[in-house]
Amino acid sequence: MKDANFLKENNARHLWHPMAHPADSLANPPDIIVEGDGVEITDVDGHRTVDAVGGLWNVNLGYSCAPIKDAIAAQLDRLPYYSLFRGTSNDAAIELSWLLRDFFAPDGLTRAFFTSGGSDSVEVALRLARQYHKLRGEGARVKYLSLKKGYHGTHTLGASVNGNANFRTQYEPLMPGCFHIPAPFPYRNPFNESDPERLAQLCLSALEDEIAFQGAESIAAFIMEPILGAGGVIPPHASFMPGVRQICDRHGILLIADEVITAYGRTGAWSGSRLWGVQPDLMSTAKAITNGYFPFGAVMLSDRVAEVFEQDRTAKGSIGSGYTYSGHPVGAAAAIACLKETERLQVKDNASDRGAQLYAGLQALAERHSIIGDVRGGHGLMCALELVSDHGSRTPIDKATITRVHRATYEAGTMVRVSGPNIILSPPLVLTEEHVMTILACLDTGLASA
Ligand code: PMP
Repeated sequence: MKDANFLKENNARHLWHPMAHPADSLANPPDIIVEGDGVEITDVDGHRTVDAVGGLWNVNLGYSCAPIKDAIAAQLDRLPYYSLFRGTSNDAAIELSWLLRDFFAPDGLTRAFFTSGGSDSVEVALRLARQYHKLRGEGARVKYLSLKKGYHGTHTLGASVNGNANFRTQYEPLMPGCFHIPAPFPYRNPFNESDPERLAQLCLSALEDEIAFQGAESIAAFIMEPILGAGGVIPPHASFMPGVRQICDRHGILLIADEVITAYGRTGAWSGSRLWGVQPDLMSTAKAITNGYFPFGAVMLSDRVAEVFEQDRTAKGSIGSGYTYSGHPVGAAAAIACLKETERLQVKDNASDRGAQLYAGLQALAERHSIIGDVRGGHGLMCALELVSDHGSRTPIDKATITRVHRATYEAGTMVRVSGPNIILSPPLVLTEEHVMTILACLDTGLASA
């Protein structure tokens, strides 16, 4: 490995960072991570921290998962690449599709289409939704509905259904035909409604209104995260997603669950849809499918959707989406090992237990730090603190202060993630009680520096 000075200098000179302003990366150099071990990471200066963000919500099993590393090495040795493009397949991708069928059977999803990551999975799911309607003779169904505050990756369709201006305005005009409804976010919503159940009903009414306004026969799909993630960890009331399912059914609209974060145990259930007792028509997944060790994604399809394609006998049913790395055998081998470990360790149960401990600890921190405006979580290991400069007006904290909190928390021994006024926590699902205590203690120190 190159020495610390070389890495810092060249990071500044030659490396542009995703989701960052190039000038900001120069002013606030990133932490250069050089080692991962269990749920801890070490930076180039030798500073070791608990990784309370689990990479990017993806390293669910931590950094030392030997079965995945071994599977990757063995697959590289036997068959490092072969594609799934028409005419060929590979054994690892087939075995993975068979495992995923079992994993997602309770969600009613039986077919897999592989991609290179979350943005790809979203894009493919949105395209398949339009194609499904075309195949059924409803080609006018081309619009998409989604939630404000939703995040669906950075390809152009995904960015168009994103509900956060930060990921949109630089690239407008985006795709026409994408419309957003208010998110069921009790702390901030246009209805001034803080009761989660009443708010869920108001948002469902807004969805009905939008469908009536657009015309149901023009809408292909509604896409949502079962728990809004990048938008600031916003769990809806339990009635919301089932309500969306009913409305979609009533109007012939497909429901796409974007489970790039929520699938594979993060919410304390094997999928976010299952958490709410909903069967989506399509599901986009990625991230933890390989524990973050290899870029890989999967779109899962229900029988109802898949059969329309499978029964078509024209060129219209041909899938015009696909990537050189769709079903990459090394990624598929990583995913097979990852799924087996995920089930063997029943990580969803630890996510529930440690998640409850973390959420309770964050609520206790809010009693001591008036800078905390809202504490969100309660479903597995997805939590957020929203920081405010004033409780009454709920004025979001300024960037300098939250950056200071982040720095001090890191110096104290925990890596957290800042997203707008939020501190996001999504640690590996295998963390222990002691790790949760460390995270809370470090946050306590960090918040005191505000
Ligand atoms: N959808 C959701 C819900 C996500 O959280 C993300 C990434 N955080 C994406 C899509 C995009 O995934 P990727 O970054 O792997 O392209």
